[in-house]
Amino acid sequence: MILAQTILHTIVAITGLMSALLSLVLYFLKRAYPKPINGLGDWALFPVLAFFASALYGMQGKWHHLISMALPNLLLVLTMVIQLRGTYRYFGIPVNTKLLSSIVLVALLLILWSSGKNAYYLHRLLFMTGFLALMCGVQIKVLWKRRREGFATNLLLITLSFMCIALGIRFISALIEEPAVGIFVYSPLQAFYLASNSIGILLLSISAMLLSSEQLRAEMVKLLRHDALTGALTRRSVFEYAEDEFARSARRDASFSMLLIDLDHFKEINDRHGHQVGDTVLTHFVVCVEHVLRRPAVIGRYGGEEFIVILPETGKEQAIQVAERIQSHLRTQTVPPQVTASIGVSCSTQAQHDTLDAMIGRADAALYAAKRKGRDRIEVEEMQGDTPVQEAHA
Ligand code: GH3
Ligand code: MG
Ligand code: MG
Repeated sequence: MILAQTILHTIVAITGLMSALLSLVLYFLKRAYPKPINGLGDWALFPVLAFFASALYGMQGKWHHLISMALPNLLLVLTMVIQLRGTYRYFGIPVNTKLLSSIVLVALLLILWSSGKNAYYLHRLLFMTGFLALMCGVQIKVLWKRRREGFATNLLLITLSFMCIALGIRFISALIEEPAVGIFVYSPLQAFYLASNSIGILLLSISAMLLSSEQLRAEMVKLLRHDALTGALTRRSVFEYAEDEFARSARRDASFSMLLIDLDHFKEINDRHGHQVGDTVLTHFVVCVEHVLRRPAVIGRYGGEEFIVILPETGKEQAIQVAERIQSHLRTQTVPPQVTASIGVSCSTQAQHDTLDAMIGRADAALYAAKRKGRDRIEVEEMQGDTPVQEAHA
């Protein structure tokens, strides 16, 4: 029995210590991340609270019951409330601070009322297990909808479900059979309850770390894929996307089009209004185009004031319509300085063993023609019968 109790104490102490160390890691992650990750502050805090709770539980019988019983119970309530708040913030769900504060206040009153009196041990146990299970249940509901979002979300979901079940078992068993008084009084059930709680909290902090790094990775990928100024795809990622979509449309024998867009007399805008205004015009232009486009169409920055629009599953007529919509949307913009665009259109012809490079060449030639013919217009690739003219302009 003494050995079992020692093992139990050791599990609680080691997992508590590991959670506290993980909390330190989370805290430094929070400081090191370039962009704030919502919820990370809460996730760095809750393992520390859990650590102090388990340390104080260990003092039962040695210290005053308010410190070794009421305080750790309250800390455990706070642990779960703050962990829940972290999850809500991470997923961008509004947090009802008033409700959470009221819950903590009610918990505090119940804990104070029941602590120190052995006659109320059962009430306290039922309240604590019921409350913690409820906190897990609320989060499980939130996470269940997001279970396809990745490994970390699922680890959090599994951990909370495991904790919820363990708490539920303890709750029901306490109703069936009056438990022995005292948190470290050894019984297999109490051992299971304590160990699952400690391991659960450790797994919760591991999930928090994994979720943060998933978010960071997503942020990095976004930064790498998008042009820093305009938010359009970078040249490299738009070409990767174009290659994938081009190959897909070839396999399906579907149409595939592209637009090459160059802003007219853009140098004059820079010269007249300054480079900063020029930058704003570029950013605004991309917003305008994105307003017109529907997935899976995307816009990428080809270079300078030149852009490429990839139009998967789009035939020539539809592509021309998209180009027209872009131009007319640009004309409705009231934000000065106004800008016009010349657009070259090309469409793949699967039968001719077309290539992406050839398509870009044809769109470029069409764009050049649009410039030559006076700008602010759309030109379509040249055709000889059913075959597009392959040569780009010199
Ligand atoms: P055209 O109608 O023939 O296309 O004339 P243009 O003035 O638009 O063409 P040109 O190629 O002579 O000038 C393009 C200008 O775009 C020159 C360059 O300074 C400017 N530019 C390229 N990238 C940026 C950018 O990121 N910000 C700003 N503000 N200007 C840029
Ligand atoms: Mg230009
Ligand atoms: Mg240009």
